[in-house]
Amino acid sequence: MAEQHYDLIAIGGGSGGLSVAERAARYGARCALIESGRLGGTCVNVGCVPKKVMWYAAHLAHALDDAPGYGFRLDYFGFDWKKLKNARDSFIQGLNEWYLGYLQKAGVELIHGLARFIDAHTLEVDGIQYSADHIVIATGGRPQVPFLPGAEFGMTSDGFFTLQNCPPRTALVGSGYIAVELAGMLNALGSEVTLLVRKDHVLRSFDAMLREQLIERLREDGITVLTETQVRAVARLANGALSLHCQGQASVLHVDTLIWAIGREPNTDALSLAAAGVAVQPNGVIPVDPFQSTNIPGIYAIGDVTERFHLTPVAIAAGRRLADRLFGGQPDRCLPYENIPTVVFSHPPIGTVGLTEEEARSQYGDVVKIYQTRFRPMYHAFTTRQPPMVMKLVCVGPEEKIVGGHLIGEGADEMLQGFAVAIRMGATKRDFDDTVAIHPTSAEEMVTMR
Ligand code: FAD
Ligand code: NDP
Repeated sequence: MAEQHYDLIAIGGGSGGLSVAERAARYGARCALIESGRLGGTCVNVGCVPKKVMWYAAHLAHALDDAPGYGFRLDYFGFDWKKLKNARDSFIQGLNEWYLGYLQKAGVELIHGLARFIDAHTLEVDGIQYSADHIVIATGGRPQVPFLPGAEFGMTSDGFFTLQNCPPRTALVGSGYIAVELAGMLNALGSEVTLLVRKDHVLRSFDAMLREQLIERLREDGITVLTETQVRAVARLANGALSLHCQGQASVLHVDTLIWAIGREPNTDALSLAAAGVAVQPNGVIPVDPFQSTNIPGIYAIGDVTERFHLTPVAIAAGRRLADRLFGGQPDRCLPYENIPTVVFSHPPIGTVGLTEEEARSQYGDVVKIYQTRFRPMYHAFTTRQPPMVMKLVCVGPEEKIVGGHLIGEGADEMLQGFAVAIRMGATKRDFDDTVAIHPTSAEEMVTMR
């Protein structure tokens, strides 16, 4: 027998769970949120936030390299990783506390512990049962580690955030967001980085222009990128270093730190989903319809436990819209998964929204028109580093509706958001052309492409 009954229970205190519970409570629903770890989930504790702190530090390291070109004479005494880590940890602790206040203010009850289903409307946490009319699964994911001898000598992105010092030599295995982001940061902060990519490219699902530019920049910045190379076994040597036995462009590599960045898997195995009859794919992902509903009425899934776009704002938007639908009198409210903008915090960053050129050509054929530009940002007129800015607009039809926008270069991260609004609203190339440019910026090239 359940001790407490709620209108809605969210399982997971990350981006998705916090958002759905807070929004539902604002509509007057009686809500609880169950979290087994720290409030804020992946994004706050081991994801976007600590990552962005490290990205800023790496960005500063690049700015220091650039400063002499602008006439600065610098006495540079290196970088104190430990000092930054301590400041970062305190910042995150502050956010954990902020989220506690956020829930209290919204009137959402926080239950600490690991939840599992007893039936479709009942959950158990530490031997106590709680029931609800609506249960939202927002348990996120965790980093994957491959099955190979010695894999346990490596760490994942979670381990990266516990590092007390900058590793002298790092190997990163993977080719997605995390691999390229951590490679750039570690390289800028002083590690000798090798990136091991099992296929022919990094970021294979991105527009070809972006991945080709990025791999060039990674190499120019001194990162060794080994494509078509796989780690087969790892061993720890007597001196503490790791020996990586590889197949491909290298056979043996010696490093101090190995980071697996090969994707993430959903946290669904501890939930006893079968007790509620919730369908789950063999890889642990929970299938949902466009309204985030699972196969069981009253049970929903949002964020990284579902199939697409594992991004914080996506989990937040899906959660808030679900609450709008369930308690806000908006029966059709849901998150369309098109035109979702995303940034890769590489060096330089990537911003991308909509269809890649390849996707547009296979969807629309000959009516696709591409506008592309490549230039040296004025900032780099005086620096030794000279990363270009490259931009592409993918347009279709006689009206040249913009269906994709892709940027790589300094500032692309902050540039994309506004363009994403225009593209989502159905902007055409003519709309971009008719927008007066802001000069002198790199962004102005987005509205002056020929
Ligand atoms: P999570 O935030 O993972 O929250 C799930 C919560 O559920 C966790 O707190 C977990 O402890 C809890 N939980 C799990 N099982 C149970 C259970 N049985 N009972 C109770 N609680 C449970 N996205 C961006 O948009 N921008 C970025 O720059 C970015 N950078 C990232 C960098 C890294 C290194 C990583 C790993 C991810 C990054 N992401 C980024 C992705 C983003 O963090 C996730 O998409 C987002 O956190 C997903 O939110 P969620 O609510 O689905 O899950
Ligand atoms: P990703 O899914 O982005 O990339 C992982 C890639 O690693 C795979 O696509 C695959 O690429 C490669 N891979 C898979 N298995 C192996 C293997 N055994 N050996 C070598 N390579 C392998 O995962 P990440 O872990 O980088 O990130 C997880 C998710 O978190 C991202 O997809 C993103 O949604 C989110 N995230 C978002 C960020 C942001 O918004 N800036 C930053 C960080 C994470 P291939 O098939 O080409 O070999």
